[in-house]
Parts: sequence; structure tokens; C-alpha cells
Amino acid sequence: MAIEDFVMANEKTIRMGFFFGMLAVIGIWEFIAPRRALTVSKVVRWANNLGLVFFNSFILFLIFPAAAVGMAVFARQQGWGIFNYYDTPFWIATITSIVILDFVIYLQHVMVHAVPVLWRLHRVHHADLDFDVTTGARFHTLEIILSMLIKFATIAVLGPPVVAVVIFEVVLNATSMFNHGNVRLPKNVDRIVRWIVVTPDMHRVHHSIEDDETNSNFGFNLPWWDRLFGTYRDQPRAGHEAMTIGIRTFRDTKYCAWLPGMLAIPFIGKVTDYAINRRQWSGADEK
Ligand SMILES: [Zn+2]
Ligand SMILES: [Zn+2]
Repeated sequence: MAIEDFVMANEKTIRMGFFFGMLAVIGIWEFIAPRRALTVSKVVRWANNLGLVFFNSFILFLIFPAAAVGMAVFARQQGWGIFNYYDTPFWIATITSIVILDFVIYLQHVMVHAVPVLWRLHRVHHADLDFDVTTGARFHTLEIILSMLIKFATIAVLGPPVVAVVIFEVVLNATSMFNHGNVRLPKNVDRIVRWIVVTPDMHRVHHSIEDDETNSNFGFNLPWWDRLFGTYRDQPRAGHEAMTIGIRTFRDTKYCAWLPGMLAIPFIGKVTDYAINRRQWSGADEK
């Protein structure tokens, strides 16, 4: 199939193009009309958050040079997965695969909040003291690897079209950068858009320091899972300007804003330290 050959041959260029394109668009939007004042300088934030992104891309390339697309090709060659086994029209297989992959990412996100040892990895994303386009790609290297392994397993079971995997990767990356933007959509536009895709105001609630707020709005792309599974929260109690972003136990910029500290975050504190883990999962009763 011509389109598939083109996508496979240019997969890395397509992904990088969308990444830098979104970074530029949302970055300019944030510069012109920021939603909140930053607590850490933009230069430090961008240098360190993007430093982590480039470091992760390099490590990921070393471990999984063919990435998720390579796994989709391999699954097809082996005849693995539902859509490689049953003859399904291309567009049905593509759309269904994208929706299911997004659902798996939602479940994974709930899991990394619920399981204390995995929360240690995901803390790096939440320890950001501000919320902007670079937060959207800021994840610990080990979480990125875990994420890739879960994606591999999903692809092996699903057998999605190769194009579906590329579309999913590009769309997820783009929407994640959009909904971490330090920007605002007009209220009535936000109301409509958040039925189709997670908006910045919807995902910002998830970055609240408040435990019940951070344990809501887990979706990165499609907003339906949160509404369907009872984890949807409309707005932060304190309002978007006044709410505090981050984790109560991590406020030091050495860990929250600088790359070496970020990489160290999962290893801070005992794994058995119930208080640290509990504070994030069910701390509502502590107030
Ligand atoms: Zn989270
Ligand atoms: Zn986030």
C-alpha cells in the first residue's frame, strides 16, 4: 500500500515534524497569552524539560530502534493480533485501533497513580512546579520504557494497521502538548472542544497539588474515558489562576526543575514509606 510505504519510510521525520511544529505553535501561544504566571523561569524550564525529552529519545532509540511502528510491522509479519487475524476493512481497523490504544494509555495512567512504585516514576511528570507545553513531554526515562513495553503488548494483541500506530503516536504527542499548554480557550469553546479532545483547562486539574484533583482527568487525548469511568472533574476548586501545581512533598527546584534531580526523583524515599505514597492516593482524609 503506497500510503503505508510512505509513512513507514518517513515515520521518524513525521513524528519529529509534528513535535517541533506543536512546540512552536503552543510555545508562541503561551508567550502571547499565558494562562498563569510561571514560578520557574521559562529558560530553565524549557532547557531542563526538553533536555529530558531529548535524553529519553536517545535512550529509547538505543533500546527500541524500530519503536512501536516496528512492533506493528513485526506483528503483521507474524500474523499476531485481532486485525491481522480477521480480515477487517482498513478504516475500521485504523479507527478502532487508535481508540483502543488511547484507552490503554488511560488505564496505564490510572495504574501509575495507583501503584506506589510506579507513582515514583510518574512523580517526575507531576513534580513540575508549572504547567506548560514542555510538561507534556516530560516523563522519567523508566516510565517512557514502561510505556513502550505496554504499547508493544497492546500492538501484539491488537495487530493494528501500521498507519494506525503512526497516527496514534503523532496525535497523542500533539494532543499531550496542546493540553499541557499554559493557554486558555474561550470558555464556551472549551466546553465544546473537551467533548472531543482533552483541553488545557481539563488536564490542568490533574496537575493540582490537591489529591482528589490529581486523581481525576487521566485522559491525555480522548476525554471520554474519564466521563465513562467516573474520574472526570470539571474545574479545580481554587480556580485555574490560584490553584497550586505540583506535588506537596516535592517543592525544591533542585528536583522539580533541574534535569539531574528529575532523574533522581523515583529513587527518593523508601518504597515502603506509606505516608509519602498515601498522601498522593487518598490524602483527602488528611485535610
Ligand atoms: Zn498523572
Ligand atoms: Zn500531565
